[in-house]
Amino acid sequence: MRGRKATFVEAAVVIACIASAVMSPAPAGAWGFTGHFIITRAAIEALPPGLRTFYQSHADFLASHSIDPDKWRWDDLDWETVCSPERGLAALEGNERPRHFLDADAVAPYPFSEIPRDFSQYRELAGNEWEDWGSAPWTAAAYTILLRDEMAAPDPDLHRVLCRSAILAHYVADLSQPFHLTVNYDGQLSGLRGIHSRFERHLVEYYDEVLNTRVRAAAPQALVLGSPIEAAFEMLVDGYPAVHALLRADLLAQRVAPLDDSGSAGDNPAYMRELWEQSGDLAAVRMAYGAEKVASFWLTAWDSAGRPDLRKLTSGLADQER
Ligand SMILES: [Zn+2]
Repeated sequence: MRGRKATFVEAAVVIACIASAVMSPAPAGAWGFTGHFIITRAAIEALPPGLRTFYQSHADFLASHSIDPDKWRWDDLDWETVCSPERGLAALEGNERPRHFLDADAVAPYPFSEIPRDFSQYRELAGNEWEDWGSAPWTAAAYTILLRDEMAAPDPDLHRVLCRSAILAHYVADLSQPFHLTVNYDGQLSGLRGIHSRFERHLVEYYDEVLNTRVRAAAPQALVLGSPIEAAFEMLVDGYPAVHALLRADLLAQRVAPLDDSGSAGDNPAYMRELWEQSGDLAAVRMAYGAEKVASFWLTAWDSAGRPDLRKLTSGLADQER
C-alpha cells in the first residue's frame, strides 16, 4: 500500500503538518516548492517569442500557483488563495494523490511499452491498484486538453487560462522528478529511505540559486508535441534511468557524511556538498528537461487551440493575481 505517501514534503513548511510528517516516513512533494518555482519560470523562457511574452507578463502568478496541486492535499488550506482543481475528464476523477506520480516499474518492465496509453485500459489492467500506482501521465494529458479548450473558447477567461497553465506545469514537472516514476520512490527498497526529499527538497533548496541559473540557461526551446500522452510516457522512459544514478549518489554521500536516524539532510552541510558533487549536474539536467517539457505542453495546448492571440486577455485579473 502507498497510504503513507499521502503526506508530503512540503509539510515541513507548515507547522500544523509537522507531526504527521514525522510519523510518516515517505514524502511525495515532487521538486518541493522551490523546484517547481524554478522549473515554471525556466519554462516561460523556453517558449517561442509570441507566447513567451504572454506567459512572461504573468510569470509571478504562474510560478506561485504551480504548487497548488500539492497544496490541495493540505487539511488547513485556504481555498481562496489557490486555483481550483478541475474535473470532467476521467483522469481527474477520484483522489488527488495518484495524479502526481506513476510507479511505472510496478506496472511493467522498462521501457514501459506494455503500459496502456489509454486511461480506461490502464484502469482495467491495474484494477484496484491504480491509485497506488498513480496516474501522472494521464493527468498531464488531461490538463493539456483543458488548457486547449479554454484557449480555444470564443471568450477565454484569463484566470482560467493561467490556472490551467500553472496546474499543467505542476504535473508535467512532477514527471521530470525520477522518484515519481518508481515504486522505490523513497529509496526504501534500497535501504536509502528519505532520498525523495533529500534530493527534491533539501538539495534543490540548498543550491537553489545555482540551479535557477543553470536550469534557465540549459532548458531547450519548446516543441509542439505530437501526442501529450506519448510525450508524458517519453518523460518516463527518459527519466527512469536517473533513479539508479540518484540512489548511488545518495549512497556515496552517506558514506562520506552519515545521516542521523531521521534521514534528514537539511542540517548536514557535509552530506549536502557530497550529494551535490554526485548529483548536482543530474538535478540541473532533470529540471531543465522538466522546464522544456512544461513549455512544450503549454505550446501544444496553444497550437491545438489554433494559436489564439492571448495578449488581449488582460482584463479582470488584477484582484486575482497574487
Ligand atoms: Zn506534485
